[in-house]
Amino acid sequence: MYLFDTHAHPHLCVKTPLDTLVNRAKSAGLIGMMSVAIDPASAREAIEHSHQYPGFIWPTAGIHPTSVSDDEQLSELEAILQTNDIYAIGECGLDFYRDNHPSAGLQTDYFRAQLDLAQRYDLPVIIHSRNADAELVPILLEYPNVRKVIHCFSSPWSVVEALLDTATWFSFTGIVTYTNYDPYVIQNLPLPRIMIETDCPYLTPLGHRGASNEPAFVSDICSKLAAIKSLPPQTIASATTQTAIDFFKLPIEIPTP
Ligand SMILES: [Zn+2]
Repeated sequence: MYLFDTHAHPHLCVKTPLDTLVNRAKSAGLIGMMSVAIDPASAREAIEHSHQYPGFIWPTAGIHPTSVSDDEQLSELEAILQTNDIYAIGECGLDFYRDNHPSAGLQTDYFRAQLDLAQRYDLPVIIHSRNADAELVPILLEYPNVRKVIHCFSSPWSVVEALLDTATWFSFTGIVTYTNYDPYVIQNLPLPRIMIETDCPYLTPLGHRGASNEPAFVSDICSKLAAIKSLPPQTIASATTQTAIDFFKLPIEIPTP
């Protein structure tokens, strides 16, 4: 069974050495992980990690909506994209969860700028959205052909319905393992549009409560999806792994058993 973590933050997993994280991930059946940036500095770290673990860690570059500040960041981001080391733009998006976050106007400008970059560099986009469905959907509909994944998807079915005719995928975290999780969206989403992720070090799955989250735990999310969709875990694992490889255009061959 082969798994892939489409959204990890190894640069934030400071409690465990990267070597240990990678080894435990490989033992859990992972054949790779995206190292997702939140600003230019973490994008450079992600590239470094990808050089340390070539063919296993794949870097992204982007500016998280709560990290946006000045125009310098966008030119730094574009300079990083020009290195051709990057497999996705993100995470970027909208986050209106707290009043002290950057203004809606600034967040929207940065989000559009990054969607434009994705179009220009032919890269997929990893989207972060919190308390922002009403603002997010119309912007995404302006970019129907840009490949995008809404990470840690926890919005209602109406958001899926609005985007299903566009190049949009939906990715699920350890939240699906929590006891109050409503499985409706996963029950109804076609498997080819689903990806799985840990978002580590955040959102530790239920069975590991108290521990820091890590890529190895993506297997828990796979098992939970299998239970919700009444499919064997192997089916979920191989479908989501192949979807991730295709979505990010990764040069990975899935080993044949
Ligand atoms: Zn994240």
